[in-house]
Amino acid sequence: MNKEKTQRVLNYFHELFPDASCELNHSNVFELIVAVMLSAQTTDKKVNQVTEHLFQKYPTIESYANASLEDLQQELKTIGLYRNKAKNLKKLAQTILQDYDGKIPDNRKDLESLPGVGRKTTNVVLSVGYNVPAFAVDTHVERIAKRLGFAKKDDSVLTVEKKICRSIPRNLWNQSHHQFIFFGRYFCKALQPNCQECHLYDMCKDEIKKKRRTM
Ligand code: SF4
Repeated sequence: MNKEKTQRVLNYFHELFPDASCELNHSNVFELIVAVMLSAQTTDKKVNQVTEHLFQKYPTIESYANASLEDLQQELKTIGLYRNKAKNLKKLAQTILQDYDGKIPDNRKDLESLPGVGRKTTNVVLSVGYNVPAFAVDTHVERIAKRLGFAKKDDSVLTVEKKICRSIPRNLWNQSHHQFIFFGRYFCKALQPNCQECHLYDMCKDEIKKKRRTM
């Protein structure tokens, strides 16, 4: 994506969502990592419903490490993949206590080695938790990047991340990451994008825009 187009997208996102930020409720980095882990294949809204009680019942890393798997599963049972997530949550807490003295790592290598923590979670923890430039690609970011031409239709998630990071200046990654998500979540939805009002219509590559403008 050339500089001019990138700037146009960023300006528009900023006009629409100047205050975009992380919508997963958390009060410390451990709660953030838990919330992001739980968000795989479910919505932030659903995660917030679950964590409201979870964070009260388990206020410390130790409480997750010592929890019974059955209790954790019970807490998470309304979200997808809850058995696996409960197992990873317990292992994650045990690893952080045993190997990191109870502190959440602030670098990519260590974060990615934690149980249940992949590249997306690592990027969110770095950017939201530690304010280190990183660009997490979730389903919204991937869709928007492909619709607007930052990446090609068949690009992998990792390629999408690399292409976005090449186009957008590093000091803007953290803020624009949230703006991509807000644009995808509230404006350019998967099935019902707001093409009628979209100022980026001329540069959009998705055929869906034609149907949505003639409705
Ligand atoms: S034209 Fe429609 S599909 Fe394309 S970016 Fe705008 S809202 Fe999204």
